[in-house]
Amino acid sequence: MKFGGTSVQDAEAFARVAEIVESQKDLSPIVVTSAMSKVTDALIYAFETAKKGDSQTAFASLDPHFERHAQVSQNLTGEEQQKSFLIELNLAKEELFDLLLRAERRSLPLSMLKDAIISYGEQLSSRLLAEVCKAKNLNARQIDSRRLIVTDDEYGAATPVWNETENLVKLELEPLIEADEITILGGFIAASRSGETTTLGRGGSDYSAALVGAALQAREIQIWTDVTGVLTCDPRVCSEARTIGTLSYEEASELAYFGAKVLHPKTIQPAVDFSIPVRVCNSHEPREKGTMILPSSAETARKVKSIAHKTGITILRISSARMLGSYGFMAALFQVFERYRTVIDVISTSEVSVALTLDNTASLENIINDLKRLGAVEVEADHAVVCVVGEGLRESSGLAAKIFSTLEDINISLISHGASSVNMTFVVKEEKVGEVIKRLHNEFFQEI
Ligand code: ASP
Ligand code: MG
Repeated sequence: MKFGGTSVQDAEAFARVAEIVESQKDLSPIVVTSAMSKVTDALIYAFETAKKGDSQTAFASLDPHFERHAQVSQNLTGEEQQKSFLIELNLAKEELFDLLLRAERRSLPLSMLKDAIISYGEQLSSRLLAEVCKAKNLNARQIDSRRLIVTDDEYGAATPVWNETENLVKLELEPLIEADEITILGGFIAASRSGETTTLGRGGSDYSAALVGAALQAREIQIWTDVTGVLTCDPRVCSEARTIGTLSYEEASELAYFGAKVLHPKTIQPAVDFSIPVRVCNSHEPREKGTMILPSSAETARKVKSIAHKTGITILRISSARMLGSYGFMAALFQVFERYRTVIDVISTSEVSVALTLDNTASLENIINDLKRLGAVEVEADHAVVCVVGEGLRESSGLAAKIFSTLEDINISLISHGASSVNMTFVVKEEKVGEVIKRLHNEFFQEI
C-alpha cells in the first residue's frame, strides 16, 4: 500500500491512512509512504539556498515543516510516543543542519549531499506513520528503506540493483510478515552499495512500492492518491470524466506518457515483470474500487478507454528533398535531439518531410539552427497532443472515422497511428483542445 504526499499532508490525512491500513491488516500489508506534501520541495529549496552560501536561512526555511510533523504527532499519538518522536525530530534537525552547512562549504560532493538532505522527508513521514499506526494499536514498525533498496550511485535518479534488493527485501520483511507485523517504509529513498543515501527520482515512492511488491510477489500493489483511480479524461476539462475499471499495463503507459495523471511506466516496471496487479485508489474514498492495472485487459465494446491530452506542445516540420530515397537522414535528425537531450513525443513522416512534437523547448533555438542544416524548418507553437487509448484500437475498423468525424470542423495538425496497438494520437491547436476532449468524451462515453 503506497500513500502519496497529499495522502499524508496533515493529521487528518494521517488518520485516514491509519484507518485504511487497519482495514486491511489481515492481508499483511507493507506500507510505503511519500514525504508529507511539499516537504521534498522545501528540502530541495533549503539545499539550493545553502549551496548559495546561506545555510542559516536554509535551515530556518524548514521550520514550518518540522512543525507540521510535530503537530501530527501531537494530534494523533500518546504522550510517550510524542516524546520519542520529538527526540527523533530533533536528531533529524541536527543532522540536516550539519548537511546544509556542508552544502554551503562544499565539503562533500553536492549531488551526494542533496540526496542525503531530501531523504529526510520520507525518513520522517514513515517514522510518523508508524507512530500513528501504533497509537491505533496496530502492530506497526518502521524499517529504514535504505537497508532494503540497493542502487547504483547515480544520485538524484539512482537505478536499483534488482537481485540484491530482492534478496534484502525478502530477508528483512518476510519474517515480519510471518510475525504479523505491519512494516512501514519511506518511499523514494535507497542506498548505494557503499551505503550512501540515494533517491529514485521525483515521484519515486511509486517505484519503491513496485520494487518491494515485486520482491515479495505481492497479491496486489495499491497506489493510494487523492483521485479515484485513472479517469476517462481530465475532469478539469470535462466534468463527465469517470473512473476506468481496468487498464492493461500498455494502456496505462500510453496514458502516462501523454500527461494523464497515471503512474509513470518506469515506476510500475517491477510489477509488470512479475505480472502483479496495480490498483490506483483514493484515500478519501477508500471503499471505491479505483482502477486495476493488469497484464492485459479486455477490450471494451466501445474500444476507447480514455482520452489523455497534453498542452504546451510545439510542432517542428522539417522538409528536405535530400530525404527522398536516401538513408541516414532520420539518424542525422534524431542526433540533433539527442545532442540537446530533448524528447520527441509524436512523430509522423512523409517522403520528403518529417513532423514532430516537443513539450520541452528549452533548447529550441539551438535545435532549429542544427536542423536547418538538414532542410527547411517550420515551427508552430501553442498546440496540444490528444491521445485516445484503448486495447485493440489499431485493429478496429471505423474508429478513426468516428474520431475524426466528431471533429469535422477542427483542424488536425498531425496524426500518428499504428505504432502501438492501443493508441491513436493527433495534434490540434491548444485553444481547441477543451472542445476536442468534450466532443470525444461525449461521443465515446455518453451512454454509460
Ligand atoms: N517525496 C518525493 C517527491 O516529492 C517522492 C514521492 O513523493 O514519490 O518527489
Ligand atoms: Mg508523489
